[in-house]
Amino acid sequence: MTGHRLVLVGGGHAHVQVIRALAQRPEPGMAITLVTDRLLTPYSGMLPGHVAGLYSHAEMHIDLGRLAEVCGVTLVRSAAAAIDRTRRTLTTEDGDSLPYDTLSLNVGITPDLSGIVGAEQHSIPVKPISSFLSRLDTLLEAAARPDGPRRIVLVGGGAAGVELALALKARLKGLDPMGRPFWIGLAASNGLVATLNDGVRRRARAALAGHGVTLLDDFRVVEINAQGLRAQDKRFVTADAVLVSTAARAPSWLATTGLPTDRHGFVQTTRSLTCIDDPAVFAVGDCATVAEDPTPKAGVFAVRQGAALTGNLRRRARGEALAPHRPDRNYLTILMTGDGSAIAGRGGWFAVEGRWVWRWKDWIDRRFMQRFSTFRR
Ligand SMILES: Cc1cc2nc3c(=O)[nH]c(=O)nc-3n(C[C@H](O)[C@H](O)[C@H](O)COP(=O)(O)OP(=O)(O)OC[C@H]3O[C@@H](n4cnc5c(N)ncnc54)[C@H](O)[C@@H]3O)c2cc1C
Repeated sequence: MTGHRLVLVGGGHAHVQVIRALAQRPEPGMAITLVTDRLLTPYSGMLPGHVAGLYSHAEMHIDLGRLAEVCGVTLVRSAAAAIDRTRRTLTTEDGDSLPYDTLSLNVGITPDLSGIVGAEQHSIPVKPISSFLSRLDTLLEAAARPDGPRRIVLVGGGAAGVELALALKARLKGLDPMGRPFWIGLAASNGLVATLNDGVRRRARAALAGHGVTLLDDFRVVEINAQGLRAQDKRFVTADAVLVSTAARAPSWLATTGLPTDRHGFVQTTRSLTCIDDPAVFAVGDCATVAEDPTPKAGVFAVRQGAALTGNLRRRARGEALAPHRPDRNYLTILMTGDGSAIAGRGGWFAVEGRWVWRWKDWIDRRFMQRFSTFRR
């Protein structure tokens, strides 16, 4: 193989594994560039633990600068802004123009606040995680003041919303200088953790009640303002701060690339993870959807795409036929409850809970992170 220029855009859950795997067993003649808007990329599995005060900022981030350096990858610190697919070049926000033979996108998602009036001005979206973390720090600082926010609502009854509500409850405990309690509400419109099995749903509901998080059932938020939030059925709940963990859409710049996208802007790919109309462009993780076999937007799928993507990037560089990726939908979900315990579920019936489940999750997450923080060639 003569020189092959691989440009990876975004240091998401799949690309960090590609970088590591291609450093462990380099592909002859392949030059790899990583384009990233930030040097530290967050690992979402540890975000609720960080919010609860159990993990430091460093523990929940992968240092892309270090990873690129030890793996011999050229790092371009800028956001990707445009793709010229005819000339095969990627342009960054800083105006760099990077030619590629293969391009791969793993850039995550942005919140879709379009259905909620006032959400842009009056809420804190949990994605992208980097901006969420700085706004969370500001919120926690304010909460420690006697006149700071006391009523906080999380919008979104999915796994992330449940974990964040419980994590926040744990973090805020005892923070009020006068010893007053914080009121935390969780607004869910499509049921609670509706994609998980009955046993997990029951346990999640009990955990919220047990920790004093008020569940606002069937509360479809249509407006957020400085006083609180309004549901479609006109109920109004006062709140000093509103965090939103609901629908998401693809980053808007992808729409300008001419890549085939679905109605939410996600890049449509084949089972081999290439764009449906361009074998030179791969897309993985939350920013992409396998057209024939869509999966939920969850880090676990992005993580598992890592190995399949690495294999297909090697095959493309060698001029070989690509292999389809078959996602395993029977995946394990573990929700932390903020009190040193966790709930695990898998498939249609498996559900367990306990302190050992939290230790299990902690072990899985730390082991994943260690693969990058201690990696040497
Ligand atoms: C609170 C919370 C908890 C969660 N817990 C779990 C969990 O336990 N398990 C699970 O499976 N999922 C979980 N998720 C979902 C998970 O966060 C996402 O599915 C996952 O992060 C998607 O990974 P990704 O690799 O697609 O993108 P990301 O992890 O978002 O990575 C994208 C990367 O691309 C970079 N980037 C973005 N735009 C550009 C650009 N233009 N140019 C260059 N770089 C760019 C970003 O800075 C980032 O580094 C959780 C989500 C939340 C909000």
